[in-house]
Amino acid sequence: MVSFDDKNRYAISRRTMINGHLRGRDIRDRHVLDAIERLPREQFLPQKYAANAYDDNPLPIGMGQTISQPYIVALMTQCLELSGGEEVLEIGTGSGYQTALLAELAKRVYTMERFNELSEQAQAVLGELDRGNIEFAIGDGSCGWPEDRQFDRIIITAAVPEIPEPLKDQLKKGGLLVAPVGGQQTQALIVAKKHGNHLTTKTICGCRFVKLIGQYGYSE
Ligand code: SAM
Repeated sequence: MVSFDDKNRYAISRRTMINGHLRGRDIRDRHVLDAIERLPREQFLPQKYAANAYDDNPLPIGMGQTISQPYIVALMTQCLELSGGEEVLEIGTGSGYQTALLAELAKRVYTMERFNELSEQAQAVLGELDRGNIEFAIGDGSCGWPEDRQFDRIIITAAVPEIPEPLKDQLKKGGLLVAPVGGQQTQALIVAKKHGNHLTTKTICGCRFVKLIGQYGYSE
C-alpha cells in the first residue's frame, strides 16, 4: 500500500526527472511528457528499487533483465511519432513500463516477452492500473507476433544484430520501427520507415541494451 506521503514524494521525483532528464535534453513531444507524468514508474519495479524509480538509469527487474533508462524510453517513444490511432507491436515487455506508455499514446498495444515470469508481473501491474488496450504474448518476439497481422509501429526494446525479417514483414507500409541495432555491447538506436517493401533507416544515437535472444536475435 502506497501512503499519501510516498505518492507525493514520487510525484515530486517524477516531475524533477521530467524537467531535468527529459525536457532538459531533447524530449519535446508534449504527449510523451504528459503520459510519463501520469505513470507511476515505481510500481513497475521490484520494491527494493522503487525509491530509485526516477533516477535516469536502467534498473534490474528480475531474470537478469532491466527496465530501460527513462530518457531512452522517452526517446524511443518520441521516435514512434504516435498520434493515438496506431496499433503498436512491442518486442520485450520486461517490466511493462514502456508498454504502459505506449498504451497511453496509441490505440492498441501488442507486447511479447520471452519470460513468462516477467510477462505475468507486467500483466499484474498493468491490470491494477486498469489498462485495457493491451494484448500480451509469450514467446520469441524476433519471429514476430504469433498471428498473421501487420502493425503501424514496432518497437524492439532489446539489442538485435539486424532488424529481424519477420518484423519487417509485420510492419505496415508507411509504418515506423524503432530498435537498438548492432553488437552485443553497444548499438545504434535506429528509426526505420517502410516505403513499399523497403526500409530506410536513420540513426538517432548510440545506446546499450540487453540482447534480444531468439531465432532472429542473438543466441544465449
Ligand atoms: N521495455 C521494457 C521495460 O519498460 O521494462 C524493458 C525491456 S528489457 C531492456 C528487454 C526485454 O526483452 C527483457 O524483458 C527480455 O526478457 C526481453 N526479450 C529478450 N529476448 C526476447 C525475445 N526474443 N522475445 C521477446 N522478448 C525478449
